[in-house]
Amino acid sequence: MKREHSARLFERASNLMPGGVNSPVRAFKAVDGPPLFMARGEGPLLWDEDGNQFIDFCCSWGPLILGHAPEAVLSAAIAAMQNGTSFGAPNKFENELAALIVENHRWVDKIRFVNSGTEAVMSAVRLARGCTGQAKLLKFEGCYHGHVDSLMVKAGSGLATLGTGSSAGITEAAAADTVVVELNDSEALEQAFKRWGSELACAIIEPIPANNGLLLQDRQFLLLLRKLCSQHGTLLLFDEVISGFRVGFEGAAGFFDIEPDLLTFGKIIGGGFPVGAYGGKAALMSQVAPEGPVYQAGTLSGNPVAMAAGAAQLRQCLAPRFYDDLNQKTDAFVSEINQLALAAGIEFFAHHVGSIFWLAFGDQRPVRRAAGINPRSGELFKKFYGALLDAGVYLGPSGYEVGFVSTAHSQLQLAESAAKIVKAALAAYS
Ligand SMILES: *Cc1c(COP(=O)(O)O)cnc(C)c1O
Repeated sequence: MKREHSARLFERASNLMPGGVNSPVRAFKAVDGPPLFMARGEGPLLWDEDGNQFIDFCCSWGPLILGHAPEAVLSAAIAAMQNGTSFGAPNKFENELAALIVENHRWVDKIRFVNSGTEAVMSAVRLARGCTGQAKLLKFEGCYHGHVDSLMVKAGSGLATLGTGSSAGITEAAAADTVVVELNDSEALEQAFKRWGSELACAIIEPIPANNGLLLQDRQFLLLLRKLCSQHGTLLLFDEVISGFRVGFEGAAGFFDIEPDLLTFGKIIGGGFPVGAYGGKAALMSQVAPEGPVYQAGTLSGNPVAMAAGAAQLRQCLAPRFYDDLNQKTDAFVSEINQLALAAGIEFFAHHVGSIFWLAFGDQRPVRRAAGINPRSGELFKKFYGALLDAGVYLGPSGYEVGFVSTAHSQLQLAESAAKIVKAALAAYS
């Protein structure tokens, strides 16, 4: 595989931007070689600056549920853009995207658009604190909620503990209001509520944790969380930036049939543009400025191009059988991988829910907590990844990241990719 152009671009980028990138995982630190600079995407395919072609399962980390450059999204964005790129004033496309969500999601009465998932979570947490008058947050080890200070926190020692910052620059004060609990651990959850319940503004969870492997939770555990939140007057915040509109139009809330108080969205709702959102019960959302006292604003929020693109994408998602077809296609793909891996006699398993999948080097299934991930996976993934790129299959460059199937991936491409994936996994073990 040629990498000259990417290597040259990365060298230049490294003198201009920290680590040569604008988001750390892109730097290929967990795998070999310079990161690939991407030049073009079309449907399920991606081409880098050296002209290498890949089947893309990263899909920009989830937003591209229709694949790259889908006609419906492109034409909506271009049409909007021809009338100007930003007004800083209300525009009709905000109504379009908001109505698509509010009218088709049982638990979103009102929604506010922002510019990223991080911003959505940060704002929803402020709203939860504003509504409850409480300061503390409860989060789960292994869930990612963007780079919000109070949520970039890992557990201290013990079962239910106050957190410590997981990055330089996060003050003790920012971390001290966050209680961290293990995923899928009912006992620890009960203890945490017993100790901190009366002080918790909200409990935030990725109801389908997909940023540290794919750590599927028992529905019973999520129901317990719902019950404890209701009992203690704690708001339940489902961070559905990755799962929203991905496992179904109502995301993980619909998948588990559990009602959260607040939800955060991002990724898919922007149709590939930078959009985030938070929404939920009308009584809570009415507390957001200018209706209520919780301030939150944005120069480019509700941007007409991004809103038009997002609306065009979500309209496609509402087509009959959209999710049934996508999920069935992914089922078949994942089953093929698992059958081939079994036949090859290697410890390699594709976990999935809906069209999110995670390729794991381990025999534990399901994996419900970060601690269940095989410690050898980092080293195995590195070899796997190199072989996979050579075979023309692109995934996010880390073994802890999930992959996505889009409607643009054909059954034939999926079947061919399954064979290439297992071949690369065999190479990793050799
Ligand atoms: C991606 C993600 C975020 C952060 O969104 P950005 O747009 O990258 O800021 C937050 N929460 C979850 C669950 C995510 O998957």
